Amino acid sequence: MNHLPFAAGGSLQVRRVFCVGRNYAEHAKEMGHDAREPPFFFTKAAEALVMGPEVAYPPMTSDLHHEVELVVAIGRDGASISPDAARSHVAGYAVGIDLTRRDLQAIAKKQARPWALAKSWIGAAPISPLHSPAEIGHPRNGRIELKVDGVVRQSGDLSEMIWSVEEIIAELSRYDRLLAGDLIMTGTPAGVGPLVPGNRVDVAIEGVGGAHFVITPLAG
Ligand code: MN
Repeated sequence: MNHLPFAAGGSLQVRRVFCVGRNYAEHAKEMGHDAREPPFFFTKAAEALVMGPEVAYPPMTSDLHHEVELVVAIGRDGASISPDAARSHVAGYAVGIDLTRRDLQAIAKKQARPWALAKSWIGAAPISPLHSPAEIGHPRNGRIELKVDGVVRQSGDLSEMIWSVEEIIAELSRYDRLLAGDLIMTGTPAGVGPLVPGNRVDVAIEGVGGAHFVITPLAG
């Protein structure tokens, strides 16, 4: 899905999808890491983006995990952006899920190989519509939550990010020019866990919005 709609109308042509790893201390700990290690980046293809109401269970895994995340959309190109200037490069925010084939990721970690196929396939990034700063401002605190079949699995607060949105934009833009249409998934709070076909997933970020979808069986 290369055009992500704004809730208020119009759309953003998506370029790259960057993701931040281990940006909430409690999640870093649950994955067996020292929470003092700095976060890091990986990517998904734009084709990973999908809007409900159905998301297909992917092939080649038996351990599909959910990671709810605040998504930042870049609206203006820039390299070496300062934290103070970061907000002026933001086109909007969305709620996204960094779906992860955790079994493939565990193998990749053990063998020091890339995470690419553990993190990116068509449908690996369910996402809500975008909300512009004109509509919602720049939310920096508020509950971020994911429910499976009505039960809260992940719950945190945007204020718990190790790298703030401004710091993420500044850090990433040191490595490469950010382009209008780039998305950044900003990391997940604790409580990641498995999904199976039939699960209904509800995600919400206070002050941003929400989304929901059902996991459908892997097509034969
Ligand atoms: Mn993630």
